[in-house]
Amino acid sequence: MIVPQEISDRLFVECLSRPQAHRQLGWLCDNVGGRISGAESGRRAEEWAHRLLTGWGLERVRYEEFPVLAWTRGTLDAQVTAPVGWRLTALAHGNAPCRADVTTPLIDVGHGERADFERLHDEVRNRIVLCDEGASEGARKLHRSEKLGLAVEYGAAGLMILSSASGGLPRTGVCSHSESPIPSLGISQEDGERLRRLMRDGIVPIVRVVMTNTLTPGTARNVLADLPGRESPEEVVLAGAHLDSWDVAQGATDNGLGAALVLEMARALLTVHRQPRRTIRFVLWAAEEVGLCGSWDYTYRHAAELPQLAAVMNFDMTGDPYGYWTPGRTEPGALLRGLAEQLAPLGMRAEFSHHALLHSDHQPFMLGGVPVVGLLSRLAEEGSRYYHSVGDTFEKVSLPAFCRAAAVGAHTLWALADSTERPYRHYNPAEVRAMIDEADLYEALVSEGYDGPPMKVGAGC
Ligand SMILES: [Zn+2]
Repeated sequence: MIVPQEISDRLFVECLSRPQAHRQLGWLCDNVGGRISGAESGRRAEEWAHRLLTGWGLERVRYEEFPVLAWTRGTLDAQVTAPVGWRLTALAHGNAPCRADVTTPLIDVGHGERADFERLHDEVRNRIVLCDEGASEGARKLHRSEKLGLAVEYGAAGLMILSSASGGLPRTGVCSHSESPIPSLGISQEDGERLRRLMRDGIVPIVRVVMTNTLTPGTARNVLADLPGRESPEEVVLAGAHLDSWDVAQGATDNGLGAALVLEMARALLTVHRQPRRTIRFVLWAAEEVGLCGSWDYTYRHAAELPQLAAVMNFDMTGDPYGYWTPGRTEPGALLRGLAEQLAPLGMRAEFSHHALLHSDHQPFMLGGVPVVGLLSRLAEEGSRYYHSVGDTFEKVSLPAFCRAAAVGAHTLWALADSTERPYRHYNPAEVRAMIDEADLYEALVSEGYDGPPMKVGAGC
């Protein structure tokens, strides 16, 4: 048994039979809604987390502030003007230009991969390009910011990405780490398919995109709290989740869910009334959606303490857990194997993945060689369907899955923080590079301005 019986029992009672943070998440979704770091909505959400952690009795509840540019959605008018006119169901991407008015023929660039742009080459110039969210077989799925980067590189006048979810659900999401040089937007699957059918018939639709948005300097705050360690308090196991979300909905599954899980685990672990060997630090990250700014800020601010991080757990759109993820580490170790066995009644299995992934707050730590531990989980289908769309609302957050994830996460944090030996060693730059190459992530990182390892620059925050 990895987590002692009396501690495990306590965590089960708190997480499974009297959860509190799920209900609090409902309050956040309804009373704050979408949460933009650096704006008023972000500030109110940070205070919500601070208030709950303080109220539950966590120690050293504090903010760490950093500057951000808050992007605020303004107006968008996207229309097909010829040969048949209709208004597109569309959402501007985050950091889309403050002002744009572009009318061009449309061109289909498939998945928006380099090979697509290379094939069409000069035909792309000065045109709005249309692509989908997919990738060609066997290829890594490009982030929308990479597709935008290619569109800019090949001289396109704008980028439209059609949604992979049907039902009039265009998706937003950041497209550029600073103000995008060309308009960038998500359109509904139905509009995208209609445009593609026209183009397949040899018709060239003329599209007009007019948008206004604002970028305002603001202050974002990570919210931190500690459960101090009894033996090696300077060694830290970090549990984080981003609290910011897109503005078009309530940011319920992305990622109010993860934020509430971190709060729930903090509360449950506090009720154990025992201290683990190492400190467990709970962090609600700000400004993840615009480029992982909160987690980058932490790695800069605490650079000297990074070697003392025993492990980092990140909770982003975490669903019903069934296994563990240890990026870059092919052997999950005896501790996680034992935990999976102990937590089998909750649905955990001896299932482990080590494939490195980007684009959430584990990334700056992973690139710094810090051990990352995550939960493999299954999000209810409607949770992922409404990703970054107007449908990401509270009723999509499953309470049973939430309770199981909180229980599994709390056990895992306790085990990582209380093991006699540190469960994992840090990776050196060569090992980090090997992990990046194995997962074919180097090009994606370079497109973000990454120049390591060793890690030096962040994603433009
Ligand atoms: Zn997220």
